[in-house]
Amino acid sequence: MNPWRVYEHTTPGKLIFGPKSISELTKEMPPNEVPLIITDKGISKAGILRKVTEVLDGAGIRYHLFDGIEPDPPFEIVEEAATVYEKNGCTMVIGLGGGSSIDGAKAVSLKATRKGNLREYGMGKPVEGMLAPICAIPTTAGTGSEVTGVAVITDRESKTKMVMRGPQLIPKTVILDPELLDSLPPKVAAETGADALAHAIESYVSVNSNVITEAFALSAIKIIARNLRRMVANPGDIETSGQMLLASCMAGLSFSNAGLGLTHSLAHPVGAFYHISHGLSCAVYLPIVMEFNLPTCPEKFASIADAMGENVRLFSLHHAAKQAIFAVRELLAEIGIPKTLSELGISFQLHPKMVEDALAAVPTQRNPRKADRNQISSLYKTPL
Ligand code: NAD
Repeated sequence: MNPWRVYEHTTPGKLIFGPKSISELTKEMPPNEVPLIITDKGISKAGILRKVTEVLDGAGIRYHLFDGIEPDPPFEIVEEAATVYEKNGCTMVIGLGGGSSIDGAKAVSLKATRKGNLREYGMGKPVEGMLAPICAIPTTAGTGSEVTGVAVITDRESKTKMVMRGPQLIPKTVILDPELLDSLPPKVAAETGADALAHAIESYVSVNSNVITEAFALSAIKIIARNLRRMVANPGDIETSGQMLLASCMAGLSFSNAGLGLTHSLAHPVGAFYHISHGLSCAVYLPIVMEFNLPTCPEKFASIADAMGENVRLFSLHHAAKQAIFAVRELLAEIGIPKTLSELGISFQLHPKMVEDALAAVPTQRNPRKADRNQISSLYKTPL
């Protein structure tokens, strides 16, 4: 990090945290707004949607619903949701769910205020002007999407996860209510928690990090190391879910400003080709990319080890740094994340497009160690 360069830090309008904070939702809505709640069937089945509609009904607020979001939402689904938004004269979106629902809501807010093809934004067109207001209510502790200026939408035809970027995509209002995570299945808790860990570590070592993002990232690492095992083992524990929600949000505040690294550049194409969850693909590649990055930033790796509770004070710098990778591998193994793609039932074949996509991805430029085509290919093949 160069402390003398200029840096900007963007944050959401308002963050509300705490058990039952969902009851604050209507206080934060400007009068006469007609929201479209964007979510998925899992969220409605789990009874989470009802908790939100009860608050809106109680305040006499008219709303509409789209509960057709799919994991890694494709453009077609976003278009469907945008049609519901337009037909019903909606004026704002509420993204309720994991990163898929929140990203879906962000993309609908963009589509609702723009003519033309949404894919252009996924190919790097900058988002300009105002969007329909976005409220985000996460039900996983992982993506941090509730505070990021990023929406990830899948182009099924080209098997590409396209990333739209712009500060306007940062939600105006965020509600972090740990009670909405009561029903989170342990497997989803493990994979999304691993995603949050990857965000925190990658943004901490990013070449674009600064004092603010590093503080958020290290705090997030510390909280995740203390709480993720407990969350997976003890679903529905409010204290632990609350800690993990705060950690994933802090990791989001860090990476939205500092950027990510090679783990994400490798993980997106694997998710698009092999349909494994985003958290899982990040978790498989995180320790491999850490090994690759180790020589470039040992001091930061030593701080990561310390934040993860490893007693490295008397270690040499190199050993302290290596301990970070050990701690990450141990944590991931204990929450049930497989080490290899074959353990996930994937017979992996490296498509040239995966290498080209990873090479061109924005996070590759933020990674502390430069990687060429050959290095990317061999990183891809490490966890077979
Ligand atoms: P998800 O939103 O895809 O949800 C996964 C499953 O968990 C769904 O079936 C959902 O119904 C279920 N679920 C979620 N919360 C639940 C709860 N409380 N109780 C019961 N079931 C619940 O998962 P995710 O990992 O949160 O999001 C992944 C998406 O987010 C990917 O598309 C990824 O690319 C994207 N992402 C976006 C950002 C960003 O900054 N915009 C960052 C990282 C990842």
